[in-house]
Amino acid sequence: MLTDSHAHLDMLEEDLDGVLRRAREAGVRRIITIGVDLESSSRAVRMAERLGGVFAAVGFHPHDAADADKEQLAALSELALHPRVVAWGEIGLDFYRRLSPPDRQEEVFRAQLERAGDLGLPVVIHDRDAHDEVLSILRRMGTGPGRGVIHCFSGDLDLAMAFIDLGYYISIPGTVTFPNAARVRETAKNIPLERLLVETDAPFLAPVPMRGKRNEPAYVKWTALEIARLRGIPLDEVARLSTENAARLFGLNSDDPS
Ligand SMILES: [Zn+2]
Ligand SMILES: [Zn+2]
Repeated sequence: MLTDSHAHLDMLEEDLDGVLRRAREAGVRRIITIGVDLESSSRAVRMAERLGGVFAAVGFHPHDAADADKEQLAALSELALHPRVVAWGEIGLDFYRRLSPPDRQEEVFRAQLERAGDLGLPVVIHDRDAHDEVLSILRRMGTGPGRGVIHCFSGDLDLAMAFIDLGYYISIPGTVTFPNAARVRETAKNIPLERLLVETDAPFLAPVPMRGKRNEPAYVKWTALEIARLRGIPLDEVARLSTENAARLFGLNSDDPS
């Protein structure tokens, strides 16, 4: 059994039945579907409501930070009270594309960390080309055991260990299968297994041998397979441990429908 800790199912809606069937066939029994703004977050919640094994995270992506005003954040807080919401995210900083101004991104990131803390929800963190800034903000206000996950991890092993020391999990994406991904591979090979999650970030970043195609949760098995190969352990063990870790972080019970 596998858990895709990060997918955007609302972006796969037109083919959702096929996507979910192929996920099940690949052994993917749980999917966390992630919001990037108010609208996609409510779609995520509606999907989690009607689909067994699907859970939602709600949040404003740094790309959309410029639009996140007080009313929108208040509406998100309301949405976050839904029982199928298991995390606040994705939130963070993206200084690569800078679709929202950096100071605005930081402001909205901090505001959401605070709200997630108030609600006792773990956070799903997006960090692209903003490693130092994300680390220092989390050091100041995002600490505590099981506080969240750094999704689509793209730093080096030292950075991964720094986040782990703050109480975070590290989610390894399909990029671990890319030929030029030495840094992600080193991280996937060496971080403590009890802090490792796997994800697709579907519809983006499909792993080899599906690279270039639209990504979907079924393909998380290729990521898990590469991690098993790197660590010299069976695929089953990667699947079992990463599923247990996701269940611990997001508070999922073993009897949740799947
Ligand atoms: Zn992201
Ligand atoms: Zn994402």
